[in-house]
Amino acid sequence: MIKPDSYFKVTYGLYLVTARLGEQKVGYVANTVFQVTSSPARFGVSCSKDNFSTSIIERSGSFAFSVLGERASTGLIGDFGYRSGREIDKFRGVNYFIGQTGSPIITDSAIAWFECRTVETLDLGSHLLMIGEVIASDVLNDQIKPLTYQYYRDVLKGFSPKNAPTYVDKSLLETNSPGMLSESEIWQCSLCHYAYETDKGDPISGIDPGTRFQDLPDDWCCPICGADKSQFFKD
Ligand code: FE
Repeated sequence: MIKPDSYFKVTYGLYLVTARLGEQKVGYVANTVFQVTSSPARFGVSCSKDNFSTSIIERSGSFAFSVLGERASTGLIGDFGYRSGREIDKFRGVNYFIGQTGSPIITDSAIAWFECRTVETLDLGSHLLMIGEVIASDVLNDQIKPLTYQYYRDVLKGFSPKNAPTYVDKSLLETNSPGMLSESEIWQCSLCHYAYETDKGDPISGIDPGTRFQDLPDDWCCPICGADKSQFFKD
């Protein structure tokens, strides 16, 4: 038996993985970035083959990742985590610099960054696991704590998008854990699956607990991906 909730007991950080091939810059939000060896220092990054970024990362032979801090902009997470580089220019208005390998390194919302040269690529079926050797890194902010996946789920109420290695079908969770969500009214974002719960409100946007969905201001939007109210449906 596999209990879907058990996956939520595994912890991760959240990272912006980036790469560049010619003029094409790509980037996405990943939680599956992890150090696999220390000497030489190497990181593994798991990328969905369905993501536009993946083939660019593979072909460029290098990648960078920025460690997001707890105060990371939800708009940035929304653009890089839930939208495709095929549709929008994710880098517009974002601060970054070009590293030694040519990878763009994002400094907005980041507390540290690493630049890696890919030394091995493993085909995992749905995903590619890139192993990269660290060639440069730096700390950008010592005061802000790293954004953990736990914080993202508990405080920001975010869920993994479908292409994430750690995606869990939410309908399974509700079937198996009827008591997990409170009895307050829940409205779900059709884009990123953020759940607005009336008894919790939306502290990020200054919405008090107990505010009904229909009473939210017309310009209120999803704190995770920026979708407007019309993109929400009642759960
Ligand atoms: Fe959303």
